[in-house]
Amino acid sequence: MPTSLAKVRSYLGTLFAQKPQAEFEELLLPTEDEISPRLSGAPEISEDRVRQRWSLLERNLSGRTANADELRSELLDPRTASRMSIYARNIENFIGTTELPVGLAGPLRIRGLFAQGDYYIPLATSEAALVASYARGAQAISASGGCSAMLVSEGVSRAPVFEFPSLVDAGRFVVWLSEQMDAMKEAAESTTRHGKLVDVGIHLEGNHVYLHLEYTTGDASGQNMVTIASHAVCRHLVAQSPVSPVRWYVEGNLSGDKKASHLSFQNVRGRKVTAEVTLPKDVLEQRLKCTASQLVDYYRVSSIGGVMSGNIGLQGHYANGLAAVYLACGQDVACVAESAVGVTRFEPAESDGLYASVTLPNVMVGTVGGGTGLPSQKAGLELMGLSGAGKANAFAEVVTALVLAGELSITAALASDDFASAHQRLARGGPSHS
Ligand code: NAP
Repeated sequence: MPTSLAKVRSYLGTLFAQKPQAEFEELLLPTEDEISPRLSGAPEISEDRVRQRWSLLERNLSGRTANADELRSELLDPRTASRMSIYARNIENFIGTTELPVGLAGPLRIRGLFAQGDYYIPLATSEAALVASYARGAQAISASGGCSAMLVSEGVSRAPVFEFPSLVDAGRFVVWLSEQMDAMKEAAESTTRHGKLVDVGIHLEGNHVYLHLEYTTGDASGQNMVTIASHAVCRHLVAQSPVSPVRWYVEGNLSGDKKASHLSFQNVRGRKVTAEVTLPKDVLEQRLKCTASQLVDYYRVSSIGGVMSGNIGLQGHYANGLAAVYLACGQDVACVAESAVGVTRFEPAESDGLYASVTLPNVMVGTVGGGTGLPSQKAGLELMGLSGAGKANAFAEVVTALVLAGELSITAALASDDFASAHQRLARGGPSHS
C-alpha cells in the first residue's frame, strides 16, 4: 500500500508547516481527558432507552449548529416511533430509521429454473441514474424474449481453525477427523431444522488445521445458521478428539464472509447462478442506442483495464445493482463485498446481435431470516412474489438477471459515449456541457 512521496508531503508537510512539532504531536497522542458519556444500559429497544439515547445526543450536540429536535423528528418520525419494537432483532442502540428512495427496474423477463415471468425489481438507492440504467437493461432483455437463468450450486461455509502443539498432533487430529463426518453432521444439524452440513474440507497449514464446513441453508442466507451450527461442531470435536488443540476459533477467516476472495470466486458462497441473453440488432439500437460491435469493442478494452487493475473476475459494476436490491429486500448489504465478483461476457451473435452472460458464484441472499421480515423489506420481496419459504432460489436468479441488465446498460452507455451525459442529466438535472 505505498503512497507517493508527493502526496505524503502534501498532507503531512502542510500540517508540520502550520503547527510547531510539539503541538502537532499533542494533536495525535492518546488523551486521558474525560470521555463523552457512555450509552447507558442494555442496547435493547424500548421507549425509555431510546429517549435516554436522544437526550445524550442532545447534551452532546450543545454548542453545535445542529438542532437535536429536528434531527430526532427526522430519524425518529412518528411511524418509526410507534413501531420501534419490530427492529428488536435487527439493531442495537436504536435511535430511529433512515429513509431511502426505492425505484423500480423492469419489466425483466426471466426464464429460469426457479424464476419465471416478468419481474419489477425494487431498488433502494440515493444514486441518480442507477435505476434508470438497470431499467433500460431490463427492458432490452425483455424485448429480446428474456434471459435464461440457471442456479448451478449452493453452499455457505464457516471455517473454524484449530491450533496444535506440533504438525504431528495436527496430523493425528486430521486422521481422527476423517472418521467424524456423521458426528459433525449430527452436531451441526442439532442446532437447525433447515441447515444441512453437506461437505467438509481440510486445510492443514503447519500445526494449524482449518476446516471448511459447507452447508445448505434452506431459504435463509444462513450466516447466523452456519455460525451456530459450526460452533456445535467445534465443541463436539474439542470434547471428543484424542488430541487437544492449544486453542480454537469458530472462524479462521477462510470462509470469505463479507470479503471478495479468490476462494469464493472459485467455489460458491450463497448461490451460484449463471444467466444469458441474446439481443437482436434492432433491440440494441432502439433500447441500448448502440451496435453489437460498439459494445464488443468497449468490452474488449474494459476487460484489459479490469485485468490490469487486478479485479477478481471480469465485470462492469455488479455492486450498484446488488447493493440496491439487497437494501430494498432486507439482505445483509455488507455481503455485496463477496457477491460482487463474477464474470461478464459479451460476444457478437448472428445478424449483428449480441450474446451476453453473467456468472455470479456468490449470490448471498435469503427470503427468510435476517432483515427479510421487516415490513418495508418484506414488501420489497413481496412485490416480486418472492417473500418467505421456497423462494430463495428464484430470488438468486432474479438478482443475477438484474446484474446482467446492469452490465448491458452500463457497457452500452460507455460504448456509445452516453455515460457522462446520462449522469449530467439525471444527477445534476441539466444538459451535458459537451
Ligand atoms: P436468521 O434469521 O438468524 O436465521 C434464519 C431463521 O429462519 C432460523 O431460525 C431458521 O430456523 C428459520 N427458518 C424458517 N424457515 C426457514 C426456511 N425455509 N429456510 C431457512 N431457514 C428457515 O438468518 P440467517 O440466514 O441464519 O443469518 C442471516 C443474518 O446473519 C443476516 O442478517 C446477516 O447480517 C447475519 N450475519 C451473521 C454473521 C455471523 O457470523 N453470525 C455473519 C454475517 C452476517 P432453523 O435454524 O431451525 O432452520
